This record gives sequence, C-alpha cells and structure tokens, in this order.
Amino acid sequence: MGAVEEGKPSRWTLATLPYQREVAAALARALRGGRLAHAYLFAGPRGVGKEAVAYALGAAALCPEKPLEGCGACNTCRRVFVDVHPDFRRYEAAGPHFDIDKVREILAEAGRPPSESARKVLLVIEPEKMTYRSDAPANAFLKTLEEPPGRTTFVLVSHDPRQLLPTIVSRCVNVHFPRLTAAALEEALVRDWGVSAAAAGDAARKADGTLVGAAAAVEEEYATGFEAALAILEEVAAGGVAEALAAAGVTRDRAEALELVAAWAELNHDLAALAAETADVMRFPALEGRLRGLAGGGRLAPPERVWEVLARAASALRDNCNVALTLEELFLGMRA
Ligand SMILES: [Zn+2]
Repeated sequence: MGAVEEGKPSRWTLATLPYQREVAAALARALRGGRLAHAYLFAGPRGVGKEAVAYALGAAALCPEKPLEGCGACNTCRRVFVDVHPDFRRYEAAGPHFDIDKVREILAEAGRPPSESARKVLLVIEPEKMTYRSDAPANAFLKTLEEPPGRTTFVLVSHDPRQLLPTIVSRCVNVHFPRLTAAALEEALVRDWGVSAAAAGDAARKADGTLVGAAAAVEEEYATGFEAALAILEEVAAGGVAEALAAAGVTRDRAEALELVAAWAELNHDLAALAAETADVMRFPALEGRLRGLAGGGRLAPPERVWEVLARAASALRDNCNVALTLEELFLGMRA
C-alpha cells in the first residue's frame, strides 16, 4: 500500500461523499439555493478529505447532467475527477512557496472564459505558500479575489489558514473541515483500501482523525504482519534452514504455508526494488533497514531466482506436496 495523500483525484459527488458528509451537505444546500460563490476556503488539518470535497464541488459546478449537484458519471464529471477537464484546474506550489510567476499563471487562467462549461473552477492547494518569502504573490492573488473574473470559482485548500493574509480569508466563503471520526475512517479503510475490518478498527483508533494518520497506522500494522515472514528469510540467509523451518512452524497447515510464500513474494518485491536502487517503490519502507541488510548480505539468491523458487513452491503446495519438504526445498533454493 502506498502512502495515501489528499492530492489524489476523487470520484465522489457532494451527495455520495463517504466522509465530511456534513460539509458536503451544507455545500449542496448552498448550491441548491442557486449560487456558487466566487471563492471558497477549505480549511482543516491535512488528510481530512478537503480535496475530495473540492473535486465534488468542481463536478457540481461543471456537470451538465445535474447542474449544481454533479452526477459523478458523465463525461464532464469523470474528466474533473481525473484532472483533465479544461475548466477545472488544480494548482500546487512546486516547492515551499508559490512564486509570483505561478500566481500570474493562475490569474491569467482565471481571466480567460471557460472552454466548455458555464463556469471554471480553479483549485489552489496550500495558498499559505504565497506568503513564504514575501507577500507579493499573495497580494497579487488578493487583487483578483477582490474583483473576481465573472465566471471563475476559486477553491483554496489550506492546511494552515493562520498563515494566510486575513484579507484573503475574508474574501472567501470559509468552510471548516473537522477531523474524521474513527467510524468514518474505519469505513474508508475497509471500502477504499481493502483493509480487513479488524485491522481497520485498530488503525482508525490509532489515527489522529485524518486519512493520512489512518494510512500510516495501516502501513505500520501491515509491516508488522510481515515481520515474522522477514525473520524467517533472515534465518534462511544466515544458513539456518532447520531454524527457518522451525520458525515457519511447518507443522501448521498448507494454507498458512501458502500465506508465508505470498508474504515472501511481497518482501522479494522490495528486495528487487533495493537491487534496482528504486527504494522509493518499496512496499515496506518501515522494514527498509532489515531488507537492506538481507539484500546486501549476499546470502540470498538474486530476486529473479527467488521469484522462480517461490512460484515453484506455491504450485507444489497447491498440488498437495508435503509442506515441510516443499519449504525446505524452497529455503535451499532461496540461498545464494
Ligand atoms: Zn456529471
């Protein structure tokens, strides 16, 4: 599982959003009242679904099928969700600050009429970065917020609105995003990330009310579950095939042995990533130190060969071969 970030396109409408339902319902009511504001400020901690709501708002603003609601299914909504609609643009600073050129680019876009839709929606992520070194970018932006171009709606997404110029805050409809409840997080973990209900409950309680926190908790638990499998690989690398067999508990059933083989395949993915020096795609960053030790020790076969012996062991186990013998052969095959 990769890190879960807010900056991912969404697929929800204001009516179907699984979390921040109160916020979404309030926005939907305001839109049913007939108006989109010229500027919204979505404020709240990182990882509570602000961007998901921003995409839903974008769909509501542009959707021709269900105007001011968003159908979530038409060509327009779908393009909004995957960031390819010309009238829905997402702007994010490339580094710690929005430079003046980037702000000018946003303002130029705001001044152009929509290409296809009745409106255009410009999403600005972390506008607080406009005051990083000087207030000039923020002041330039403020001028446009004061006299908004007719058919543009800005959605500012801020994790730390205290850093914003008060004049920017006061020009926007302020929408406060609270932390998510453990129940909402648990639901999202099970539904969107395929986490088991038991693990999701634990992770949701450990999270700090944010999706990012929940993701971190899941990753930690996920890694913990693989530690036993890793310990066995370490035994194999150290030459202790008998110890590895004991650690694997081969007297247990075939299904467990198959699960272990699957876990080793996952770990081997990371060993391959380390061998290819692409540690950024590791599945178990939490186990990186130990995996590096294994990869660098020269006692395990290269990842390509480990794949082969793992595949052979999996099919042998499925073919009802003896569990202990299959694992023993696997361990010998995994050694360099
Ligand atoms: Zn639609």
